[in-house]
Amino acid sequence: PVRIDRKATAGDRDPGAAADRETIIEADNLEKWFGAHKVLDGVSLEANRGDVIAIVGSSGSGKSTLLRCMNLLETPDAGSLRFRGEQIAFDGAPHERARRKQVERLRSQVGMVFQAFNLWDHRTVLENLMEGPRFVLGLSRREAADRARAYLAKVGLSGKENAYPAHLSGGQQQRVAIARALAMAPHAILFDEPTSALDPELVGEVLRVMRQLAAEGTTMVIVTHEMAFARDVASRLVFLQGGRVAAQGAPRDLFGGGAPQRLRDFLSGGG
Ligand code: ADP
Ligand code: MG
Repeated sequence: PVRIDRKATAGDRDPGAAADRETIIEADNLEKWFGAHKVLDGVSLEANRGDVIAIVGSSGSGKSTLLRCMNLLETPDAGSLRFRGEQIAFDGAPHERARRKQVERLRSQVGMVFQAFNLWDHRTVLENLMEGPRFVLGLSRREAADRARAYLAKVGLSGKENAYPAHLSGGQQQRVAIARALAMAPHAILFDEPTSALDPELVGEVLRVMRQLAAEGTTMVIVTHEMAFARDVASRLVFLQGGRVAAQGAPRDLFGGGAPQRLRDFLSGGG
């Protein structure tokens, strides 16, 4: 049986209760340069257990880079990152091996769901879900298969165990990717535009799964253009502009009249 220990539920999503909840990810003043281009210009973001943080902003504002920095797929150039209170090293010297172990631990405990699904095409759905639990968490084949089946059921894909990704719809593939992330029992999941590659009629089935996870208290950071979803599901909305947090707050405040003009421009212009 798969059980994930969650201290918080959606009912706890009261900003006043944040102090009681464990801080999962704490990014402070992150900077990232690509050549002479400063892509992240001092971004701070804190995700507490049970938070659902929606990151919005126009193309090129640094959303993907921020997510990738949060699990060290990109190495920040400055600032700090803490995972459950532990400082994450950006630079290995003189303890490169220790740093690499730390990064592996971080990645195994912070799931990532990409726009393009990134499933292993030559493995069945079940094998996609078993890989991490077996080889990273050290579960037996049997345990990993049981766990994989439980999470496939959770995303509504029981019966697809032996299918190859190419034989599934985009919506089904993305649900497999979400199940694969969940099977690692991560402390948080990062989503980078999880529905942007989908045909419109397939968006709903993925958002439904994500809504359910939110309601169960899963800690999520979601880059999305689905504004209705962000408004309904996010506990906090973060608006990135030119690599800086230009606005953040509760969706009910930011979607109302209190939003700064540049956020209103973005929301009305879609860009
Ligand atoms: P978003 O996800 O908000 O569209 P990104 O984080 O992908 O934005 O990109 C922010 C900026 O950084 C863009 O100008 C993009 O071209 C640039 N960028 C992103 N990744 C790289 C990279 N690996 N090398 C060089 N430039 C990059
Ligand atoms: Mg992006």
